[in-house]
Amino acid sequence: MADDNGKVNTPLSFDEPDDSFTPRAAIAEAKRCLNCKNPVCRTGCPIEHEIPQFIAALAKGNVGEASTIIARRSNLPAVCGRVCPHEKQCEGACILAKKGNGIRIGKLEQFIADFDSEMELTAHTPPSKFVGKVAVIGSGPAGLTVAGDLAKASYEVTVFESQAEPGGVLVYGIPDFRLKKDVVRREIRRIERLGVKFNTDILVGPDITVDEIFAEGYDAIFIGTGTALPRTLDVPGRDLPGVLQASYFLQMVALARADNVDRREVPVQLGDRVFVIGAGNVGMDAARTAIRLGARASVVYHRTEKEITALLSEYQQAREEGVEFIWLASTKQFLGQNKLTGLEYEVMEIDNDKEIRGTGRLETINADKVILAIGQRPAARIVSTTTGIQVNEKGYVITKDRPYGMTTRRGVFAGGDVVHEPATVVLAMKEAKKVAQGIALYIEAKKLLEECGE
Ligand SMILES: Cc1cc2nc3c(=O)[nH]c(=O)nc-3n(C[C@H](O)[C@H](O)[C@H](O)COP(=O)(O)OP(=O)(O)OC[C@H]3O[C@@H](n4cnc5c(N)ncnc54)[C@H](O)[C@@H]3O)c2cc1C
Ligand code: SF4
Repeated sequence: MADDNGKVNTPLSFDEPDDSFTPRAAIAEAKRCLNCKNPVCRTGCPIEHEIPQFIAALAKGNVGEASTIIARRSNLPAVCGRVCPHEKQCEGACILAKKGNGIRIGKLEQFIADFDSEMELTAHTPPSKFVGKVAVIGSGPAGLTVAGDLAKASYEVTVFESQAEPGGVLVYGIPDFRLKKDVVRREIRRIERLGVKFNTDILVGPDITVDEIFAEGYDAIFIGTGTALPRTLDVPGRDLPGVLQASYFLQMVALARADNVDRREVPVQLGDRVFVIGAGNVGMDAARTAIRLGARASVVYHRTEKEITALLSEYQQAREEGVEFIWLASTKQFLGQNKLTGLEYEVMEIDNDKEIRGTGRLETINADKVILAIGQRPAARIVSTTTGIQVNEKGYVITKDRPYGMTTRRGVFAGGDVVHEPATVVLAMKEAKKVAQGIALYIEAKKLLEECGE
């Protein structure tokens, strides 16, 4: 990162900090758990992990049993242990948190999942006989959850993924310093061991349509394609070279770190003055990544510190790493002739009714790059190349409650961000778990009708 005088300091590491529990520390932490009769930690978990039970198994030193209990609810424990907003969920709800020493449930989950993978304590075997055939489009948390849950229930599952590597945002969005790619790869290998097949580099829509997938004999299709289209800011200069989308920037960094593109193609370079528009988790990830590339990064936000949507922990880390924040600044235009040279914003203020309004005062700052982190929406590649799948006015797929997650087309289901708008890993998993049950019910009914000659 560069200091106030423009001097470039040694960039921070891209690697995830190794702050995992040692086995001794994990067991000591597990022993602090009160094994509450009314486990409020579990109520706080969107996928209702059996938290006291896996902690009790760990407290006895039985990591394999703890891992088996976790696997009953989740296919991605090593991921969730790292990126779930625990402070708002299980850890925030833990009875001991009120006294300021809540159980570190996320780190325990991470320890159990990592230890199991390294020691290969629990084995997964593919089913010997299949009860149905399901295609899953997209391999983010939603697709992986549907694939894992249905494989465990003896379905033959094939995943179609447009990227070269499965994992969705876990691989191409969340940066390495928060989630090591090897951790995601390990989780995917476990799902593969359940018998799930992965077809990568296939963009459903242009490369193969939903109708063509059905023609291959699939009983049901799940769409878990997330939100691929970034939102743009409708101001002058938005098409200038140097105005980037956060998703593109983070993906290029991930590809360069995996040596799949040349590092010079990463659109932020050492010494760049970078402004990130948007103060959610994606904005924090983009700013913290830019700092690691040796840039000086500031977040520009039209509201105040109190209203940011990023997790408090992410925001605090961004500050500690040197990300600067410009509050109450509403971007009006990007400046430059053939490439970006700066941005202009209007200074906002809070009026007597506590409403935010413009002051009419304009400020200009020099910028080498602007990164837009103001949200995403679904692409229409699948729905526009087939019939019968309805979306709402914003492009999100419409689904039913019975069978859970089915779209307006019979046999086609959807879940995760493509239905519920960008949320969190665990919320995409929660919905996907319910959709997996809906798919199983649908296929069971379909097979029964087929047997009856319908
Ligand atoms: C930068 C960033 C940081 C985040 N940080 C966190 C965090 O710390 N904690 C947290 O809980 N959540 C976080 N989130 C949100 C979380 O990652 C998402 O809510 C979650 O990944 C949604 O899962 P999904 O499976 O619905 O979609 P995605 O993860 O987006 O996966 C969709 C997959 O579908 C594939 N696909 C799309 N179209 C097609 C097609 N036509 N054919 C084939 N494949 C297709 C895509 O390539 C992708 O692999 C973050 C998101 C971003 C962008
Ligand atoms: S609320 Fe806290 S102390 Fe009680 S069972 Fe859950 S993790 Fe243990």
